[in-house]
Amino acid sequence: MPRIYLSPPHMGPDERGLLLDAFDSNWIAPLGPHVDAFEREFAELVGSEHAVALSSGTAALHLGLRLLGVQPGDEVLTSTLTFAATANAITYVGARPVFIDSDRRSWNMDPDLLAEELEALARQGRRPAAVLAVDLYGQCADMPRIVEVCEQYGVPVLEDAAEALGATCAGRHAGTWGVLGVYSFNGNKILTTSGGGMLVTARGDWAERARFLSTQARDKAVHYEHSEVGYNYRLSNLLAAIGRGQLRVLSSRVARRRAHNRYYREALGGIAGLSFMPDAPYGEPTSWLTCMTVDPEQFGATRETIRLHLEGHDIESRPVWKPMHLQPVHRSCRARGGIVAAELFDRGLCLPSGSSLSDDDRRRVVQLLLEVPRA
Ligand SMILES: *Cc1c(COP(=O)(O)O)cnc(C)c1O
Repeated sequence: MPRIYLSPPHMGPDERGLLLDAFDSNWIAPLGPHVDAFEREFAELVGSEHAVALSSGTAALHLGLRLLGVQPGDEVLTSTLTFAATANAITYVGARPVFIDSDRRSWNMDPDLLAEELEALARQGRRPAAVLAVDLYGQCADMPRIVEVCEQYGVPVLEDAAEALGATCAGRHAGTWGVLGVYSFNGNKILTTSGGGMLVTARGDWAERARFLSTQARDKAVHYEHSEVGYNYRLSNLLAAIGRGQLRVLSSRVARRRAHNRYYREALGGIAGLSFMPDAPYGEPTSWLTCMTVDPEQFGATRETIRLHLEGHDIESRPVWKPMHLQPVHRSCRARGGIVAAELFDRGLCLPSGSSLSDDDRRRVVQLLLEVPRA
């Protein structure tokens, strides 16, 4: 039986056709008609004024922090429960991340703890350069509250929606709540171009500046003239063509992942010791990955026993992100709280969730999960 992956790429005939069109047109470059069209179509889909196609989500985070003017020595508040790229981007501009714990109702940044941290800093006459809020596993953080609290203290919000394209919060798309939003098209994301990212903003001047910085900051001149340091962060025209094809089928991909989530909940939700990442009341998640927690006392086996049992049958599942405040590389950084995220890491498991996963595949996952030896 073929291996079942956590979240493999899912391509169709549109992606193939558009890719070949790009190839045959000889626009084999980090610019071209598919890049322009991908940006237009993407901006329209998420309801943003401008979108800038970049080489990765990490590059988009880095440029976003540059656009906000984050300086060496500044602090940026972010979620502790996230992928390393979020915190890495903060260090690229020389700033220091401050990690905020998750809440239990969404696993995302706890807005009460964020408010406490902003208040504590304000009392000392300090203000962070930005808040980098993450939308975890296809579900938005409580963005209306996060934006409201940040406005109160005059702190700009950058939204890391790398995992949440297609999700909504209070009727608005993930990634459009902050002054800047970031998406990723890495191989395991809901829309993939093998690698790629997008930066969205309502500000035309920022979009223009992001394009400038992402193409080596070349000044307007016939020769090569540079008065600033830039980056090579633009998306390839070939990959943008794949992205356009993926955009056309996004809603059906979301629907399939949601169906997996319902299936897993129905099959496993009633079993003592197993619970699922809650759907927060304020939005519509994509269920990019279906995640559950395992209480070893109640279930009679740990998350790791389950993971190894599935792996023994060639099924890939993964622990929930290890929180950033527990990572050796960030041991000198401050954190507010951290117990909730630590527990989610300890007990959390992401199940195979790809949109190409068949009904038989997911039945097999559930069956094997129920066969795990239990105390
Ligand atoms: C995937 C991911 C990124 C990074 O995106 P890349 O395109 O892989 O650089 C950033 N933040 C989060 C939360 C992610 O899951």
